[in-house]
Order: sequence, then structure tokens, then C-alpha cells
Amino acid sequence: MADLGTQDLGTQDLGTQDNPLRVAIVGSGPAGFYAAEALLKAAPVVLVDMFERLASPFGLVRSGVAPDHPRLKEPIHVYQRIAESPGFRFLGNVTIGRDISVAELQNCYHAVIFTCGAQSDRTMDIPGEELPGSHAATEFVGWYNGHPDYRNRVFDLSGTTAVIIGQGNVAVDVCRILAKTADELRHSDIAAHALEVLAESRIRDIVMIGRRSPAQAKFTHPELRELGSLAGCDPVVNPRDLDLDAASRAELADKSNRAALKSYEVLQQFAARSAPTRPRRCHIEFLKTPIELRGEGRLEYLVLMHNRLVGEPSHQVAQPTGETEELSCSILFRSIGYRGVAIPGVPFDPVRGVIPNRDGRVIDGAAVTPGLYVSGWIKRGPTGIIGTNREDSVLTVNALLADLPQLDAGVRPGAAGLQARLDERGVRVVSYADWQRIDAAEIARGAAAGKPREKFTRLDEMLDVLAAATTPRAKAAEPIT
Ligand code: NAP
Repeated sequence: MADLGTQDLGTQDLGTQDNPLRVAIVGSGPAGFYAAEALLKAAPVVLVDMFERLASPFGLVRSGVAPDHPRLKEPIHVYQRIAESPGFRFLGNVTIGRDISVAELQNCYHAVIFTCGAQSDRTMDIPGEELPGSHAATEFVGWYNGHPDYRNRVFDLSGTTAVIIGQGNVAVDVCRILAKTADELRHSDIAAHALEVLAESRIRDIVMIGRRSPAQAKFTHPELRELGSLAGCDPVVNPRDLDLDAASRAELADKSNRAALKSYEVLQQFAARSAPTRPRRCHIEFLKTPIELRGEGRLEYLVLMHNRLVGEPSHQVAQPTGETEELSCSILFRSIGYRGVAIPGVPFDPVRGVIPNRDGRVIDGAAVTPGLYVSGWIKRGPTGIIGTNREDSVLTVNALLADLPQLDAGVRPGAAGLQARLDERGVRVVSYADWQRIDAAEIARGAAAGKPREKFTRLDEMLDVLAAATTPRAKAAEPIT
């Protein structure tokens, strides 16, 4: 076994040709790529190694953004340019905390930035939540986007009513994917296994339920508006739900809250539409909270508590009125937020589901943990659009660069120091060149079906592409130098 006890190869000025600043980034989504970009643009000489547990990069841009929203995937072109920059290396199919420990990373790098996002989801914590038919929206999203973790999930769309709890943009994505016809999805990069199931869906009514009023809904108006222009589904809004309390009216009158007002106007347009005629309906309902899921062996209906709002404008919370309602449904998706997952050896806040930090510096209690940094959803929680992560990662990298005088300046080997460990554990590291081969194969598969790509949804399929490569160099994992 290689001794990784100390990887200090001497001391020179840090951030120079003789002693480049070596940074490991854990996670290859937007926050990771923007951190890499900021580091590679910085004045010191920097070498960045990005670790990713999957064989494919780009995180939620690949496996979270809806397949019918290709424009939102355009940042991938920026990430591709970053990945091809001198000083950047991608190490896919390596799980930090399993294949390589955080302590081992710290031995080989001057700094580590965790940008591993929020890989799990919040639960409602109500009776019956575990019944078959009750799912996390995050699992459904991963499934239709071909994420290997969710490849084998089963979503039974043989009933007529689907319920979505929550009113953020993920809820709208789930609603739209359930509402669209197969023809509307066929030429997107939706996973083939999902398209097959969705094409057979018997869902007729989709009910998207918020616990507060239309003024507090988290979805954004362009996403909401799309629900009004689907081929086979009409949006349904009860005009009575648009009668707001005084505090909500004050919220919408606030000029800094124009986005909410625009969503409200879209809801008004939906409420004014004539009776639905399309085969599916998407009902958008407010001021209700699920308190129990019930059914004999699987989900059959849910019990909803009606709410009223209490509190000052912008601080209103849902309070139960005591009035309840039952709603029959065969499938339910809770879409109430993503949640970060702890990495062994790194402090974690189990309440917020984030790595505790001060300005991107990881903290343990009150003390800063030298050399450990964080950015993106695992830093601030699951909020914001893709571009929000750029700003966030620049702030974290600025903190790291400001800390350079305090970092241990010993020369570090980077990923070369991990080769023995990875070999010993039989990890087939997927390099960026490997990913480019997999990418090309996905695009070629998609072309046959008129899709931008047909994703591989299993690691084995991706490794098979590499094994089938024609040159010996492409077949074998590249030695880490
Ligand atoms: P989100 O925007 O935070 O929405 C979460 C929803 O869940 C809110 O309606 C929230 O209501 C509700 N909720 C939370 N806890 C609940 C509970 N215990 N019971 C009932 N309802 C509850 O989260 P998201 O939809 O997962 O989206 C995450 C981020 O990704 C957001 O920033 C979103 O904009 C972004 N995103 C963007 C796009 C896009 O641009 N097209 C697509 C997908 C996601 P309250 O407000 O009452 O808490």
C-alpha cells in the first residue's frame, strides 16, 4: 500500500511555476466549473483537478435541467472551454469519501473546494410518506434525465391523478414533463426509458399544490407561462384563489417583487381561460398542506389541511385553519427542495443540509478548517439559477486566494499522489478525453432518433464505449502525471 502519510515535497513560494497552487474541486456542476474558471484566471500559477463521482461532468445542468429546456444547458459550452484549459484536469468516476478520503486529498493539494451540490431532498415528515406511489421530485427528475442513480426507479403512471407538492421551478418542470405529449418530448434529450413510460401515461389531472398563496409561489413567470401553451394540457386556476389578503397584496405592490407580480398575472390569465378542452389538466392550487398520505399498500389519497396566512408582508407563514380535504391520487411527488449530503471527514450542518462556512471557508464550530472551501448549493442551500453559482464561486475563490499566505506552502503532487490509491481500489478514472468519447457516442446515438443525444444511463455502458475505442491510448485509463 502506498504511504500517503505526507506528500510535502519541499517548500517554495506558493503559486509559482516551481510550486503551483494545487486545488482539488469536488463536484463538476456549475459551482465547480465556475470555481475552476476563477482559479485559472487568477494571478498565481494554479493547477486544478476536478473530481466527480459520475463518469460524466456538468452536474445538474446535465441531470437536473429539464430535457425540453435545451437553452438552459448552454452553459455547458462554457464548461467545455474551461475543461480544455491548460492547468485543468477532470477525474470522473472517483467518489471522494469512498475511493479517496478527504484527508488523502488534503495531503495532495493545498486547498480543496467542495462544490458537490445538494444530492438528496427534503421530506414532508408526515404519515404515509413512505407508501409506494409517493416519490421525491428529485428522483423523478434524475430518472427522466438519465442519471445512473435513478435508472431503475419505477414510476407508475397508470392512474389518472398525479399530485405535486411545492410550487418552485422543479415542481413546474415535473408538472410540464407529466403534462406534455410524447411528441412534445420525443426530440429532446429525455432518457429513452422515461419517454417510453411517459408515452403510456394515463395521467389526466396533475395537481400542483402550494402551502401559501399565489403571491408567495416560488416558480418564475416564464416557466409558469409555458404551462399555458402545451399541446395536450390546459392550466386550471380557481379565480377565488387569486383573492389575496392585504399582506400579500402589499407584497405584490412592492417594486422589488416584480417577478412575483408577473407570475400572479400569468395565474390571472389562466383563471380567465375558458373551460379546459385538452385531454390533460394542470390544476394549480394554493393554501393547502398535506398532512397524511393514505392507501391500502400503496398511495390512494392524501389528506390536505387548508391554511391561512399570518404575519407581516414578506414574512407570512401558513397556519392551519382546521379544515381538511381528501384528494384521490395514485402518484405524488414532493418537490419541496433539494438537500445536501454529508461527506465523511467534512463538517456538516444536518439541519440546513449544507457544509457550514464563513464566506466560503469551511468552519468546524467557530474555527475555520484551513485549506477547505465550499461553493454552490452545498454552501448556501438549494437556491438560485445556474448563473448564481458563478458569483458564489468567485467569492469562495477570492477567499482562498486571500488565504494563500496562511496555507501550507509545501510542494504537493496533486492527483499523481493519488494514483497508487486509485489503482489499489480498482477505480477506472474517466479523464476529460474519455468523457469526450462518451459524449460523442451519446450524440451519435441521439442523431439516429432525432435527439440532441441519447444519454448512457449506466456506468458500464460508458466504460464499454471506452473499452471499444479503437486506439490503445483511448482504451486504457490515462496515467495521472
Ligand atoms: P424552491 O424554489 O425553493 O421551491 C420549493 C417549494 O416547496 C416552495 O413552494 C416551498 O413553499 C415548498 N415547500 C418547502 N417546504 C415545504 C413543506 N414542508 N410543505 C409544503 N411545501 C413546502 O425549490 P425548487 O423548486 O426545488 O428549486 C430549487 C432551485 O432551482 C430554485 O432556485 C429554482 O428556481 C431553481 N430551478 C430553476 C429552474 C429554471 O430556471 N427553469 C428549474 C428548476 C429549478 P414555501 O415558499 O412556502 O416554503
